[in-house]
Amino acid sequence: MIFVYILIFLAPLIPLSERYHTFYEVEQQLLDWDEEFGSNTDPWPSQYPGSGIIYELSQIGLSNQDNLPIYAVKLSYDADQTEDEARVLILGQCHAEEIYGVEIAMEMIDWLLHPNAFYPVNYLDRKLALENTELWVVPTHNPEGLLTVHGDTLAGEWIQDEWYRKNKTDINLNGIFDYVYGPGNDSDGVDLNRNYDFNWIFGDDKYELDYGCSANPSYISNFDYYRGKEPFSESEIQAVRDFAIDKQFLLSIAYHSSRSGCVSEKVIYPWNWAEGKSSPDFEVIDNLGRDIASFIPTQDGITTYLPSGSVSRRGNAHDWFYSQTGCIQYLIEAGTSNIQSSDEQIIEDTIDRNLVGAFHLINRASGNNFGEIGADKYLINGLVKDINSGEILNSEVSILEMDGPMLKPRMTDMFGRYRRLLYPGTFTIEVKSEGYKTYIETDIVPSASSFVEKDIFLEPLNSYNVSLNFNLPSDYDFSSNSKLVINSEWGLEEMELNTNIINLDLYEGEYYIELIGHGNNHFLPIQDSILIENQLDLFYDVKWAKLLYGGIEQNDWTDISGDWYFDDKIYSQTSSYYENDNFSSINLNQNFSGSDIVTMIKLKYELEWEKDYFSLAYVNQNGEILNQRNFSGHNYSGYNKFYISHLHNNEADILNINLSLSADESLYYRGIIIDDIKIFSDSEGAECFYGDINFDSFINISDIMKILSYVLDNDEALGYYKCVSDINQDDGINILDIAILINMILGD
Ligand SMILES: [Zn+2]
Repeated sequence: MIFVYILIFLAPLIPLSERYHTFYEVEQQLLDWDEEFGSNTDPWPSQYPGSGIIYELSQIGLSNQDNLPIYAVKLSYDADQTEDEARVLILGQCHAEEIYGVEIAMEMIDWLLHPNAFYPVNYLDRKLALENTELWVVPTHNPEGLLTVHGDTLAGEWIQDEWYRKNKTDINLNGIFDYVYGPGNDSDGVDLNRNYDFNWIFGDDKYELDYGCSANPSYISNFDYYRGKEPFSESEIQAVRDFAIDKQFLLSIAYHSSRSGCVSEKVIYPWNWAEGKSSPDFEVIDNLGRDIASFIPTQDGITTYLPSGSVSRRGNAHDWFYSQTGCIQYLIEAGTSNIQSSDEQIIEDTIDRNLVGAFHLINRASGNNFGEIGADKYLINGLVKDINSGEILNSEVSILEMDGPMLKPRMTDMFGRYRRLLYPGTFTIEVKSEGYKTYIETDIVPSASSFVEKDIFLEPLNSYNVSLNFNLPSDYDFSSNSKLVINSEWGLEEMELNTNIINLDLYEGEYYIELIGHGNNHFLPIQDSILIENQLDLFYDVKWAKLLYGGIEQNDWTDISGDWYFDDKIYSQTSSYYENDNFSSINLNQNFSGSDIVTMIKLKYELEWEKDYFSLAYVNQNGEILNQRNFSGHNYSGYNKFYISHLHNNEADILNINLSLSADESLYYRGIIIDDIKIFSDSEGAECFYGDINFDSFINISDIMKILSYVLDNDEALGYYKCVSDINQDDGINILDIAILINMILGD
């Protein structure tokens, strides 16, 4: 293969226009404003009457390498107090070289602090922004990158690269900042817009080469898109994450610019990943995105910014903000490919045009529908309260027409308030809070001219005493506690079983309970669905398990279809990701019959939510699926055990275990990795499966070794081990049991 190196002759170094703020100028200006406005309780008596303090400066974190402060400015009436208002976040600059973001953010603060000045955005838009929202502005969350772009003295040496993009994390750990003047090729630094955990895996690894874009293939910026060593590895992004989770913003803009010109002058939003795979709120997001774009003329004056659903899935901010916090964030690519114009006229003009678009978004949050850039109201909001006490309830609020399995539940805020942007249509709201009856209201019709104000009052549920009585097997070992899991619509609760009766107070409703053995207690797991409508006594027989199959062994499986891969684990495919439009399936070469079967599968999985599935199925001799459990979505951070029971209703059935992965036509992920599989039954009428002393499903020489250790070494056999070792059931483990075991192995 031949690599063609294109030599780029860089223009002689011209200092950036004085119009741009260096990091220290940003800092100084924020401190000056703090001096002027930070404690002034009546800064503009006639323009902002009764405003209270309108400016509050805070620090939300530090940069990763140089520990520079990341500042956030809060602009609002009574900015020193936390008020029940919609919150909006403006993220100025992220990528170091994309400095329009700094200027737009700084100018926005300026406009709000100076109501008398004439700007392209009316006084009323600005006043209502302060009155009705809490507006947070972070001029830069990449201060060390910004310093590099403007130039900085480092260890006596002047370091400047106007083309620098990332932060300065010392990737190769050599203690020096490795950068190459010009686009890309900087070995240090992480792309801060690839470091969020949502779809992080698809971002670039270390030192990946770039190939430009189809519109500008000669613009190469190798290593510029490095996602970092793990999700949220960078302190800048940790700071933004924690800030976003804390504030629960309604709307946000993150400013960028496109030096390659590949995506210049665009408004990009979550998401339109593939045909038919747009975000659940896409209609709301797209409508507002189109409006924002229509208010920002392009530099050439010919048209306006281009709105577009985001296509790439690479650990970016806007997809994370939306899916994980419910905040709709727009990425705006400000300016043309001349991202650091030295023409002051162009700089001012780019800032002004962009701020008009930004104030339209702020109007959407503040409910300002007056004037040229006013926004239609289409929004529902209200408080969620206990119907009797009026107490505020922490609740999950869903609009069922705009809900999806990849979205983190949207919770009410510290005031008990929910807010959801809507569009012209009819909607259903569902409100859940633990211990309350789920509330559903249909036929909600929002309007352009007023918010739908709807406080929701939840009715408390009765709670009842439920007594779970476990008839435990002889020799049950109370010192190795089994795990009782109680699953309800409000989540999971886990407790240890250290007595045979557990009394609980549970709210009326449906529950799923699971009792799983631990340590010395290998018993057949108990799983049950229960409906609680009154006080309840439940009884369960717990029986020592017989292990029918255990382990990961390629020869145990028949490859039916697909690209399964085995080592000490089972992988759904040989490559990193499964393929689209694919069905892969394997069968275990072992049949089961007779009694109730439970399969334990320990795996991690990453599958497109509710489109791609992994399935474990019990299949009979005719190939009919009798029972299956499907897995979808993301559960890939660690291995988890799942238990799948099959009550063997038809004794004639011969059971087989089938694993399959099915993927639709678009959006692949990493699939599944199985760390362990075990299949259990009960002990078929006996107290336990005598002789399988090491619990490996076989009775053989290694069981003799294990029983010898009980007889000779004074190891104490507990729980399951005590039962299966006392083969002659004479209440002791001794030489007689060993003799019987030897006979069993020799097939006497
Ligand atoms: Zn950018």
